[in-house]
Formats: sequence, C-alpha cells, structure tokens
Amino acid sequence: MKEMVIGTLIIIMGLKLIYFLFFKLTWDSTAFFLMLVFGFLLLIIYLASRPDKEYLAMITASEYARIYPKNKTNYGYSCHWCGSRSIRNWGLNSPDDEKRVFICNHCGKKLYRNDCLN
Ligand SMILES: [Zn+2]
Repeated sequence: MKEMVIGTLIIIMGLKLIYFLFFKLTWDSTAFFLMLVFGFLLLIIYLASRPDKEYLAMITASEYARIYPKNKTNYGYSCHWCGSRSIRNWGLNSPDDEKRVFICNHCGKKLYRNDCLN
C-alpha cells in the first residue's frame, strides 16, 4: 500500500515535470488533472504487471522438492509449514491460466509455482 502511494506520486510528479518541460504548460489545475489521469493509467499498468513478478519470485516445484525433501510424498508434495497434503492448484490471473500457483488448503501459505517460463 505504501509503495503504491509513493509510486503514484513519483509517476505524477515525473509526468508533470516532463509535460512542463516539453509543452511549457503552466502548473494549472487542468494540467494537474491530466497528469493525475495519466498517473493512474500508468499505475494500473504497473499493478497489472506485478502478479507476474510475484509469480517469478516464487520457488518452482523442483526447487521446493530440493529445499524441502521431507515434504515430497508418493502423492505429490505436502506443506512445509503445517504438513497438510491438501494443496490447491491455482491459476495466477484466471482459472485456466497456464501459470499455476500451489497454495496450502490448510494454512493458506503460497508454496511453489509451476515451471512456466512465459
Ligand atoms: Zn500448510
């Protein structure tokens, strides 16, 4: 939340500065309103690209197996936090997304992702 506010302010101030330098606009409220709209558009794009970064930062199934060898069972993996074998296979952005995130059904912790490279 804090980084969202800071990000928005940086985007708005940056765009205001660029607009001021290149279009020699005065710092009036119309220009400020335009910058606010552009700032929010950029923020939406930034937020939309964030889940992928989060996804790529997660460990993969093979890394999970290497780090937590005791949690590899005959029927897949178990949660290394609570030991539950009930793990939800979740699509990152939509139910049929090829980017899969595996979440423990018991404690809700995100455990690992699949090896999708896109
Ligand atoms: Zn768990």
